[in-house]
Amino acid sequence: MVATIEPEERKGRSMVTASETAIRAVVEEVLAQLQRRGGLSGSDRSGDWGVFDSVDDAVAAATEAFRRLKRQPLESRAKAVECVKRICLEQAEELGRLEFEETRIGRLDHKIEKLQIIRLVPGTEFLRTDAVSGDHGLTVTEYAPFGVIGVITPVTHSLPTLASNFVNMIAAGNTMVVNPHPSGARIACEGVRRFNRAVHAAIGIENLVTIIREPTLESAQAIFEHRGVRLLCVTGGPGVARAALQSRKRAIVAGPGNPPVVVDETADLDNAAASIVRGAAYDNNLLCIGEKEVFAVHDIFDRLMEAVERHGGFRLNAEQTRALTQAAFAPPEKPGGHWVLNRELVGKDPAVLAEAAGVRIPEGTQLLFAETDPDCPFVGEEQMMPFVPFVRCRDVEQAIDMAYTYERQYGHTSLIHSRNVRNMTAMGRLMDTTLFVKNGPCMAGLGLGGEGYLSYSIATPTGEGVTSPLTFTRQRRCTLVDDLRII
Ligand code: NAD
Repeated sequence: MVATIEPEERKGRSMVTASETAIRAVVEEVLAQLQRRGGLSGSDRSGDWGVFDSVDDAVAAATEAFRRLKRQPLESRAKAVECVKRICLEQAEELGRLEFEETRIGRLDHKIEKLQIIRLVPGTEFLRTDAVSGDHGLTVTEYAPFGVIGVITPVTHSLPTLASNFVNMIAAGNTMVVNPHPSGARIACEGVRRFNRAVHAAIGIENLVTIIREPTLESAQAIFEHRGVRLLCVTGGPGVARAALQSRKRAIVAGPGNPPVVVDETADLDNAAASIVRGAAYDNNLLCIGEKEVFAVHDIFDRLMEAVERHGGFRLNAEQTRALTQAAFAPPEKPGGHWVLNRELVGKDPAVLAEAAGVRIPEGTQLLFAETDPDCPFVGEEQMMPFVPFVRCRDVEQAIDMAYTYERQYGHTSLIHSRNVRNMTAMGRLMDTTLFVKNGPCMAGLGLGGEGYLSYSIATPTGEGVTSPLTFTRQRRCTLVDDLRII
């Protein structure tokens, strides 16, 4: 493997002669060419294009890749990012299908689309240099890489999260070691192999991203504690968010959400209904930003429900809602605790939920919905299923108060449909969420139909927000003292 042919760092020798450097460059090039032509078989390599059995090996390979990337021009990062964007676009059908077949959650059309839109995730163009010049000279602030980043990815978007993290992190000059969710590990590993192969062909470096073949909680913990890992980026639910926050390393945590939607009496009801269905039905409501419960004021409540039916929703009656709730949740294990989600129903099609509710639904139904009390577990829990509870509220103040209560202070995402600026502002202030979307579906908050850029990791408890290449940089200041002003 090319990465291993460089001599060990020469301890005690401070200089490498020019001829040694030249010879090394020639040997590297020959071996790289051999590998590109298939001259070195997979068994000659220590990894499997970035897929490793041990955390130590994965970190060592990513460390070596970081060392090499540092010596290359910035253009190499842009080329690596381009490789990943191209693969995600051109191979979206195949990779999306593989992810769907492995995880068995969500919708195939959206699995494919989530890969196609990786091209919208910002790369090297997002980086910048700040400069100050004055009587005392020039100071530049550069946004420098950390090194190897430990990455945890969710089952809900296994390869898309990995690819989006790659674009941000490699653009910023880092390399990665990934512990994927065990139920989405095969597709994550396949993506890593394809990315590394293409990147190696483009810039001659492999293992910019490494991954654990059979991830466990222990391998996640080993990454959290590894001395070679400089920074963590964790995308997942409450358990992993807590574990990362307890780590001694700096962690960027993209945690869980339970996004509420408020609809007041001034809203465009057709737009509100269409937006709620679009956002909540997307990938069968697996998105962390997806609409999970609606608080609508009494004056427009019945008209809103009719509008949701017109836009692809199927309304359950009270008995069907009870049956679905019983199938989807078990009571909390201790008083005041969380209801226990039936993972078998997470991300399943509306028809599967409808069967559990004891009803047949027309083909093409996007979303199930019903009027419920606020204490229905679908309101307070992040259900990740295409069923949305609608709670009838006395007025907008009560709706906003309930939205605040049931968002559970995850600080993730909240939405409002209104034409009343005061109501929008009141809700925005109280909710204090990372994303606050007005008069559109949740994805508008990630630049899909709204302004802004896309990322699959929205850092909520740690405050970095929608992650970008700059999230994964450290500032370095360089000062030149002199009279340098040209004006
Ligand atoms: P999950 O918490 O079950 O798993 C996420 C990852 O964490 C997996 O790789 C899992 O193996 C690992 N993990 C779980 N517990 C761990 C622990 N104690 N120590 C170390 N690793 C651990 O979540 P999921 O079902 O894969 O994904 C859905 C969740 O992720 C939802 O709560 C959703 O809101 C959240 N999410 C958040 C964002 C965001 O950007 N904020 C994006 C996507 C998903």
